Amino acid sequence: MVARSNIAAVLDQGARDHPALIVPNRFSLSYSRLRELTDEASLALASYGIGKGDRVALVLPNGPEAIVLFLAASKIATACPLNPAYKEEEFRFYLEDVAARFLVVPPGDGEAARHAVPQGATVIEARVDSDGRLHMNRDGHGRAVDSFENSSEGDIGLVLHTSGTTSRPKRVPLRHHNLAASVSNIIATYELGPEDVSLCVMPLFHVHGLIASALATFASGGTVVAPDRFTPLGFWPLMQAHRPTWFTASPTPHQLVLARLQEDRPAGTERLRFVRSCSAALSPAQMALMEQRFGVPVLEAYGMTEASHQMASNPLPPEPRVAGSVGRGTGVDIAVFDEGGAAVPAGMPGEVVIRGPNVMRGYEDNPQANANAFVDGWFRTGDLGTLDSAGYLRLIGRIKELINRGGEKIAPREIDDVLEAHPAVKEAVAFGMPHPTWGEEVAAAVVLSAPATEKELIAYSRQRLADFKVPKRLYIVDSIPRTPTGKVQRRFVADQFSRE
Ligand code: AMP
Repeated sequence: MVARSNIAAVLDQGARDHPALIVPNRFSLSYSRLRELTDEASLALASYGIGKGDRVALVLPNGPEAIVLFLAASKIATACPLNPAYKEEEFRFYLEDVAARFLVVPPGDGEAARHAVPQGATVIEARVDSDGRLHMNRDGHGRAVDSFENSSEGDIGLVLHTSGTTSRPKRVPLRHHNLAASVSNIIATYELGPEDVSLCVMPLFHVHGLIASALATFASGGTVVAPDRFTPLGFWPLMQAHRPTWFTASPTPHQLVLARLQEDRPAGTERLRFVRSCSAALSPAQMALMEQRFGVPVLEAYGMTEASHQMASNPLPPEPRVAGSVGRGTGVDIAVFDEGGAAVPAGMPGEVVIRGPNVMRGYEDNPQANANAFVDGWFRTGDLGTLDSAGYLRLIGRIKELINRGGEKIAPREIDDVLEAHPAVKEAVAFGMPHPTWGEEVAAAVVLSAPATEKELIAYSRQRLADFKVPKRLYIVDSIPRTPTGKVQRRFVADQFSRE
């Protein structure tokens, strides 16, 4: 296998004239054109003074800009993709936290991010037009440059945030060799090659879409179909138009797609080889129905930002896939430890720990989190699971308190902070509540110090939090329920209210 030690090398695999990126209803780019566009974008970024070590925040919807600017920024500096749905306050936190010196947005868009941009930072507009040409500009002019320095494998290519539990979200620096290792693992797991076409339905500001749908496909010389966004209604027309060989999503989009499907093997599934599910638990019943409808294996995988996405997956046939299991380690060592840091016997529950070249070295500027995150060189995932004697992992719960809303992770502390900033709120504890489509939905218990209604507090949150983080239910209570030992534990609070 050709060494893919940095992101620049990922694009080198595809044959010149082979389609690399198809943007439905807009255009299709060959590998040679995508390489040219990425180089043009790297040169433009370099002309604005961007180089090694600079953090380039990308606030771009799914589409060619998100892909080209990610590749270009990580090639010469560090890309920091952010969810375009964030509100101004959220952008302020993330942009300051990553120390963004540059912000890339679509022309005339990204208003909340522009307002939040740190002083002295440069705003750059980027667009790929309907002919597949790149347009980039910023206030003032760049200096002419005709070359740039490529990042090397030890450089940080991507910074993402993970949900914190006791603190704000933590910063995850992923080096080129981490990303390259993850991409290679994914290619090996699913035997991806130039004939493969992946339909990218996950957001490109999260590792799932970025690494699995996009980078793994590019690195194996295949074709990525990247629509602007996922809608359950738009899904089948896309399948019929592009006949992908695979796609990956969290269980919620899979469920929304299934709900619109009454027949087995509908048009658009002719070339499917498998469907992948990751980022949240897939129920065996949903998996069985998906296999029946799609007529192909449904492979559940286990991913995490700190591991540059994939850690485990069920294998392709003829190897067995096991419903309710996330499969076996894919180029990653997996073990289950007890509280004392010793491996437990097969079948016994404990904390899932991982080790491998795709795993980050540590959170950035966070010695306290790092002190807890590693044990004897193993990274503690915060997930609870069991490993069977054949190496199949089952996840049975979480030690960490994050809320998993359809694969989108939410730090409950962030919700507490927003609610507690309201003058009428004395104490707030957010938690995940079971939800039939999302898996979990955000709720919170609130103690008031002055009169306020649930509606008022939800409206207040909506101004400060991206929609997916806004609590859907608020319980106004006299006191926060505590464990028998008097502790506030989100899981305990959740149990009290979920029973209602
Ligand atoms: P993220 O960093 O957003 O990718 O989230 C990582 C977390 O998502 C993991 O630590 C798990 O808690 C959860 N997760 C990922 N894949 C699965 C899965 N197949 N089943 C259950 N939880 C999952």
